[in-house]
Amino acid sequence: MSSYDFDFLVIGGGSGGIASAKRAAIHGKKVAVVERARWGGTCVNVGCVPKKIMYQAATLAEQMKHDVTHYGFEQPQVKLDYQLMKKRRDAYILKLDNIYENGLAQAGITKIIGDASFIDPHTVAIVLDETVQNVTADKILIAVGGRPMLPDIPGMEYTITSDGFFEMEELPTKAIVVGAGYIAVELAGVLNGLGVDTHLVVRKHKALRTFDDDISDHLDKEMTRQGITIHRNTNGLSKIELQPDGKKKVFMVTEGMNPIGDADIVLYAPGRIPNTEPLSLEKVGVEVLPGSGYIKVDDFQNTTAENIYALGDVCGKVELTPMAIAAGRRLADRLFEEGKELSKTSYELVPTVVFSHPTIGTIGMTEKEAVDKYGEANIKVYKSKFPNLYYGIFQMDSDDKPKTFMKLVCAGKEELVVGLHIIGMGADEMLQGFGVAMKMGATKADFDSCIAIHPTGAEELVTMG
Ligand code: FAD
Ligand code: NDP
Repeated sequence: MSSYDFDFLVIGGGSGGIASAKRAAIHGKKVAVVERARWGGTCVNVGCVPKKIMYQAATLAEQMKHDVTHYGFEQPQVKLDYQLMKKRRDAYILKLDNIYENGLAQAGITKIIGDASFIDPHTVAIVLDETVQNVTADKILIAVGGRPMLPDIPGMEYTITSDGFFEMEELPTKAIVVGAGYIAVELAGVLNGLGVDTHLVVRKHKALRTFDDDISDHLDKEMTRQGITIHRNTNGLSKIELQPDGKKKVFMVTEGMNPIGDADIVLYAPGRIPNTEPLSLEKVGVEVLPGSGYIKVDDFQNTTAENIYALGDVCGKVELTPMAIAAGRRLADRLFEEGKELSKTSYELVPTVVFSHPTIGTIGMTEKEAVDKYGEANIKVYKSKFPNLYYGIFQMDSDDKPKTFMKLVCAGKEELVVGLHIIGMGADEMLQGFGVAMKMGATKADFDSCIAIHPTGAEELVTMG
């Protein structure tokens, strides 16, 4: 009999924590999960799910406003009841929260509500409304995720983050989005699609600078074509001022730039930081990486303290929901399933989609990364740019039609596909299967040996050359 309350205590009821707890329970362990806010964590409550709903709403708006007349429909009177949409979105999310909560109960997992912090390597204090409960466990998993980072500049209190975006009770008329990553381009795309005068403020020359250049350049052109005003080389904002009418005025670090004018909201998305501070990690010897504060883990999600593990956004390696889930499941298998002592998650070749307008699907190396690794002479790149058949009957010049762009980066004589990048219609749904092929080591010849499905956009990926 164990002398601890639980075999496995998970701190954080988000994507990674819940997945790991459930897998440990399947292996017959006595498991508890502590959550201080809402079951399901970031993804369900203020991340992937509400974002995708907003993305869908914006896509529908764009189709009704810009596309349907090309097919011969009369222009519909499109008016969004934003409050109604938000109400339905929030209700759906509440339903998901309950599904997560009930799922834990059904798996026989103990749910504990409160704020957790370490007392010693096997004891966690959980605080709820001034009541403290000490819980002990043989093994403890830290899966506390992260939160939006807020630069320290005057007037930050007048801005919102992605969390605030999902709380907005009305659609702004004009919005300034500051940042250059996933969240900035996704939410700028949503706002613009819903008819908001949208300004994107980037520090450097474009957004998504770490993506393949052809992809970020294509997105840049598309965002501009769709009506987003991009303010470049700003070096960020120096301050934000609240105007007497409640609007916000922003000042850019680079002086002499065109002023943006007052906006209803300023949405900051400059990255995220880990939720480590309240955990008292120093008491138990869990080290964090200098500078970023992410928890230091090895390939097996071991922290620097014995019997304490960490995964998901709090480790900062690949901040995606399926990554946290996979890491959580593999860890529970390794710890609690016989014969799985070497079970771990691969952080290589992780497919990812940016729900920008249009969507981006990408996996593997950018062209630049491949050249650096294999040398220019050993790289062959295949590209294709085309308007989807969807735009075939559009009454506009071919040059003006939105294009899909695809790129395969291949290495060596055998042309191993080491990078695959898509921007355009359906990129999100297209990527998963190609990801499987790449994980299996597919070459360009393997791609070509698969007969195309016609007429689709995806067929281009197996017919390039
Ligand atoms: P989380 O899901 O953040 O869960 C951590 C949980 O721990 C939280 O519920 C928190 O309340 C709790 N917690 C924190 N500290 C304590 C404490 N001391 N005590 C008790 N509980 C605590 N990923 C995708 O794959 N696809 C997407 O489309 C996507 N879209 C996104 C959109 C936005 C706007 C954002 C912000 C993120 C998005 N992500 C997306 C990323 C994804 O949400 C995260 O990678 C994922 O949620 C990480 O899971 P996690 O388990 O590490 O942490
Ligand atoms: P990201 O890390 O993706 O991008 C943030 C970018 O903002 C930086 O790279 C930087 O780009 C820019 N930036 C940094 N500081 C400032 C500043 N002070 N002012 C203006 N710009 C600044 O962060 P996000 O918050 O967008 O997303 C966090 C993570 O969440 C993502 O990396 C992703 O893993 C995950 N996510 C996944 C999604 C999906 O799967 N679809 C959707 C949303 C989030 P630069 O150096 O060019 O200025």
